Amino acid sequence: CGVFGVFGHPEASALSFFGLHALQHRGEESAGLCTTDGNEFFYHRGMGLVKEVFDNDKIQYLKGSMAIGHVRYSTSGESKLQNAQPLVFKYRGGDIAIATNGNLVNAAEIRRELEEEGSIFQTTSDTEVVIHLIARSKRDNIEDAVKDALKRVEGGFAFLIMVHDKLFVAQDKNALRPLVIGKLGDAYTFASETCAFETIGAVYLRDIKPGEMLIVDKNGLREERFAEMERRAICAMEFIYFSRPDSDLDEINIHMARKRMGQVLAQESFVDADVITGVPDSSISAAIGFAEQTGIPYEIGLIKNRYTGRTFIQPSQELRERGVKMKLSAVRKVVEGKRVVMIDDSIVRGTTSLRIVNMLREAGAAEVHVRITSPPYKNPCFYGIDTPSRKELIASSKSIEEIRKAINADSLHFLTKEGLLEAVGRTKDEYNRGMCMGCFDNDYPTKVFDEEEAGCGC
Ligand code: 5GP
Ligand code: SF4
Ligand code: MG
Repeated sequence: CGVFGVFGHPEASALSFFGLHALQHRGEESAGLCTTDGNEFFYHRGMGLVKEVFDNDKIQYLKGSMAIGHVRYSTSGESKLQNAQPLVFKYRGGDIAIATNGNLVNAAEIRRELEEEGSIFQTTSDTEVVIHLIARSKRDNIEDAVKDALKRVEGGFAFLIMVHDKLFVAQDKNALRPLVIGKLGDAYTFASETCAFETIGAVYLRDIKPGEMLIVDKNGLREERFAEMERRAICAMEFIYFSRPDSDLDEINIHMARKRMGQVLAQESFVDADVITGVPDSSISAAIGFAEQTGIPYEIGLIKNRYTGRTFIQPSQELRERGVKMKLSAVRKVVEGKRVVMIDDSIVRGTTSLRIVNMLREAGAAEVHVRITSPPYKNPCFYGIDTPSRKELIASSKSIEEIRKAINADSLHFLTKEGLLEAVGRTKDEYNRGMCMGCFDNDYPTKVFDEEEAGCGC
């Protein structure tokens, strides 16, 4: 998911619209915005893309100088309006709203405990437990109540929480999910990725630190923490797949990092070939790096149709078999008769790779060598990245040779963990260079609970 927030700008809702639109790749399922003019809360949420959910009238209706917004990428199939964010509740005679990116590993446990004590939940989203914890706090001021709630929850999260006169911004103690702060004139802006700041002309200030809680109100911005910083463990998949290439994560540009992944992958697994191609959009940067390193030309061998929506008619099995493709097409003149290296970011179930290898072969490729810019994805994510259960992860049960056969490739290599660490190039003195690689190495930065319960984050 993606979050966006503004404090202190008369056009908070319009800015948030453009900010969320820049974060659209982080979630296409639903979008929402909540604003306040200091008295009343205004909010609107809907299923679909930001540009489908909001129009000019709705943006005008969302009055005030403070806003938080959200785009949702559902995990665990709970795809309904109820779970669209921001979530808004009545709170001690006022209102409170929350937008999250991430997943709480102890939400189910806290929820059970609260339900036993009589709480009634409105959603199946784990974000709601945070609001319950705040509401039940014995503290008489909201700042301490939020801090207490944050201390109880574990996992990976970036939170934006607002009441009528304050905005709270918090990042889990491992900094698993990305969250940055910027300024636009006198206003503060917050976003999952820096690309949203470029879009609205805001200046990037810094990444939110692990365990940090920022409080913004009429007196300005205060930097506090709710927990000591623990092992920094930024999600490696943000560098590999999730973030947009023009974003910087912890001051490392995503495009450049992916390009280096391609270069290191070429060093680790050179193969003589005629063309290098990348699966759009996420693997173009890596394909350019692989080509630079090997001297083999980079070509656009695959084209993505940008208009594939969720609401579109999907081709039936029969039409698919007859060659109807919606999302990707091969460029026949580029690959025909050629030995092709196809770069992709990850293999999860293996269905995408198989489809693309076959597509390249049908377009006449003589050989298809698959190179993947991540280590084998063997373990589920507990921190808000949608992954199927362990048994559906092809690398959890198959060897690399077995996967090669399953995806019909002439050869297959994955970037090593060491290669990935080198390519991302964060500081050497931090464990795993400050990254989480749990889905590759099964070494999670927090304790993890029941895999079956790892459910509904965002
Ligand atoms: P597969 O078909 O192997 O299950 O999925 C791998 C493909 O899905 C890759 O091309 C990757 O770009 C794409 N993908 C979409 N969403 C995700 C995600 O949340 N995590 C990962 N690792 N890949 C994803
Ligand atoms: Fe990212 Fe993988 Fe860690 Fe999940 S387990 S936060 S996908 S690196
Ligand atoms: Mg892909």
